[in-house]
Amino acid sequence: MIDLLEQVAMHLSGRPVRVILRRIEEQGVGGYTSRGADGRIQITVDSGLDDQTFLWMFLHECGHVRLHSEAMRPISGRPEAHRQKMASLRRLIDDQARAQADQEHARQEAEADDLADRWLVAAERYQTIGGTWLTSRLSGLLKTIG
Ligand SMILES: [Zn+2]
Repeated sequence: MIDLLEQVAMHLSGRPVRVILRRIEEQGVGGYTSRGADGRIQITVDSGLDDQTFLWMFLHECGHVRLHSEAMRPISGRPEAHRQKMASLRRLIDDQARAQADQEHARQEAEADDLADRWLVAAERYQTIGGTWLTSRLSGLLKTIG
């Protein structure tokens, strides 16, 4: 499964990606993209999601890798801890800087959503025969031009 996910992530984003499946403790977060301490881009997706939500979440993160991963800095340790630190730093910046950061964040989310929606349509159209609901769609994405 991880092999197939990493193949699809690389096919869609044009970059080598490490995929990690595990439970994410942070509430309301199904996945995220980060850069590991070794410089490798990684996608973490909550392993407890149902197949449909999982596929959309995974494609959304592939969108972030393709569009927004260039500027990501390597972090060590669990990304959740880093995200908590960033959230507390947020309180220290002024309103204008915060509004600007929020706007940039919202723009990136919308861009990743657009790509995920497009890839979801392609996954339906090119799904392969056989396999599970999820693997037939993931395999189908490998037949697209990305
Ligand atoms: Zn996102």
